[in-house]
Amino acid sequence: MTTTVAAYAAPAPKAPLERTTITRRAVGEHDVLIEIKFAGICHSDIHQVNEDWGQSPFPMVPGHEIAGIVTEVGSGVTRHAVGDRVGVGCFVDSCRECANCLAGMEQYCKNGTPTYPAGHDGQPTYGGYSTHIVVDENYVLRIPEGIGLDVAAPLLCAGVTLYSPLSHWQAGPGKKVAIVGLGGLGHMGVKIAKAMGAEVTVLSQSLRKQEDGLRLGADHFHATSDPATFTELAGTFDLIVSTVSAPVDLDAYLGLLAVDGTLVNVGVPAEPNSIRMFSLIMGRKSLAGSMIGSIRETQDMLDFCAAHGFGAEIETIGVEQINDAYKRVLDSDVRYRFVIDIATFAA
Ligand code: NAP
Ligand code: ZN
Repeated sequence: MTTTVAAYAAPAPKAPLERTTITRRAVGEHDVLIEIKFAGICHSDIHQVNEDWGQSPFPMVPGHEIAGIVTEVGSGVTRHAVGDRVGVGCFVDSCRECANCLAGMEQYCKNGTPTYPAGHDGQPTYGGYSTHIVVDENYVLRIPEGIGLDVAAPLLCAGVTLYSPLSHWQAGPGKKVAIVGLGGLGHMGVKIAKAMGAEVTVLSQSLRKQEDGLRLGADHFHATSDPATFTELAGTFDLIVSTVSAPVDLDAYLGLLAVDGTLVNVGVPAEPNSIRMFSLIMGRKSLAGSMIGSIRETQDMLDFCAAHGFGAEIETIGVEQINDAYKRVLDSDVRYRFVIDIATFAA
């Protein structure tokens, strides 16, 4: 039987979000029903509502940083049980047969199903700003004991989006890693890169967040508004991960890489970026992108964070504060992830 549940949705592009109800599909043989406890606000939610990346279906219920408790399982479910603490990230299905799925990189499935906005079996999918969600058990993660569900929620996107490139490009002892932008993604990048053993530098627009950056584990902190940063640090880094949600001066950041260094861009601005080819050629440098992470990597990341005793730094809000929180994210005024307390739907 389908269920009707409370949700927060944007009725149209760029419109403020408002309370509504949505239908969740019946719990199938391999599905779990999750009572959502917390949902993180990712900058991608805002890009999607604003149609920064092209047309989207509306009404849209954003939210792909979901943490909650399993309340029902289908008859064929083996991976999760009622009462389990679980999470759901940016996708809820994949084709399971393309080369990328078979290689364990479901995030690059050519036919995957994002948590939102997408269709699944002819029905629209809706994200985590709601009280419940039904998801195939294979796309549901275990949240280890020791991480609160509130601070775990942002790990499902922000955490894995940094963990995946940091592990792929082997951040670790002896490596100099820079994280550009200290927001939701960036602050997880600092924590994870530090826990992997790298020497970590934050490159932020100003020194406003310096104290926080150092507390989160950064060894160094520099302002990108100061031109001296780009001369002092020229040729320094093995790996730079840019989490900036706006276009950046790629040439300037490539200039900070050592020979053979890699600049990985995970931010997805609405506008295109240009680059001078000399910036790559002079030093055999690489410019790369990376999108979230696989189911395996997401579980590894959750276990890694639990082993190191950290989750995200969050500011918990009620559902009525979602529109304010969107404005504050756009103003870079978030320390460092807004997490919606879904219990406030009942208020
Ligand atoms: P966020 O919390 O808003 O953080 C972005 C940070 O970038 C800000 O805190 C700010 O850091 C810096 N920034 C913002 N505007 C800037 C500007 N005009 N110039 C320079 N720096 C600026 O956002 P988020 O949730 O971390 O997401 C960041 C981006 O990653 C978004 O575009 C999002 O869509 C994308 N994303 C990608 C993936 C993926 O799979 N690749 C996954 C999730 C999100 P400072 O104040 O420190 O300068
Ligand atoms: Zn996200």
